[in-house]
Amino acid sequence: MTKAMVQIRGLRKSFGSLTVLDGLDIDVARGEVVCLLGPSGSGKSTLLRCINHLEAADAGVIAVDGEIIGYRRAGDVLQELPQREVARQRARMGMVFQRFNLFPHRTILENVIEGARVVKKEPRESALEHARALLERVGLAGKADAYPNQLSGGQQQRVAIARALAMRPKLMLFDEPTSALDPELVGEVLGVMKDLAREGMTMIVVTHEMGFAREVADRVIFVDGGVVVEQGTPQEVIDNPRAERTRSFLARVG
Ligand code: ADP
Ligand code: MG
Repeated sequence: MTKAMVQIRGLRKSFGSLTVLDGLDIDVARGEVVCLLGPSGSGKSTLLRCINHLEAADAGVIAVDGEIIGYRRAGDVLQELPQREVARQRARMGMVFQRFNLFPHRTILENVIEGARVVKKEPRESALEHARALLERVGLAGKADAYPNQLSGGQQQRVAIARALAMRPKLMLFDEPTSALDPELVGEVLGVMKDLAREGMTMIVVTHEMGFAREVADRVIFVDGGVVVEQGTPQEVIDNPRAERTRSFLARVG
């Protein structure tokens, strides 16, 4: 078992003539929390989408927990994996988006068990038991039978985190999970993410919450122009950025 949970080498992705990822190399260790910073349009979402294969890279390799995403090795060549195998790989990662997209006509509990039931074919009883424990963990045990529209945005986002955790992921990807929330609801979502980090979850978090990055990130990676501009501890990258591009970005986000 390697120490790396995520290994990315030479990742490239273009949309037409627009090069978004221009040869990225990133490693994330087991249990590490990495915050990904970068200007709007710098390819942060595309990177996360490539990691969980919602988007196919043009070149480069991504391995998660020792498995190459989307491919298998056959001697010296990489063969594309069938959809079913890709779905299995994807189920090892939880993703939380800016918009939570809960099913409006299902209860909170039903929303949380959905993935485990459909993708992992987990028996209903054990899925329910796990979902109840997860709702407890995100502080929403009392909301199991409520519907999404009866919850605040912060509560819905905590449900979305519980839903992702229901798949028992090895890796959690967060794409600006608090940027659609009213300011007073941001803290409760970041609190759940902090707990998760403390419990040892490997996490890649795209965020503009510098306080969170300072407190929780083991490492901060600043991307711009499709490449890693600089990376290091929060103290290094946020408090003492070396690159001019990092400095001007930080001046803008405050
Ligand atoms: P970020 O998350 O850092 O704001 P994105 O990864 O969302 O950046 O997008 C990077 C660039 O790629 C943007 O210019 C965006 O418009 C473009 N882009 C993203 N997805 C697509 C797509 N499916 N088709 C065309 N262009 C896209
Ligand atoms: Mg984005």
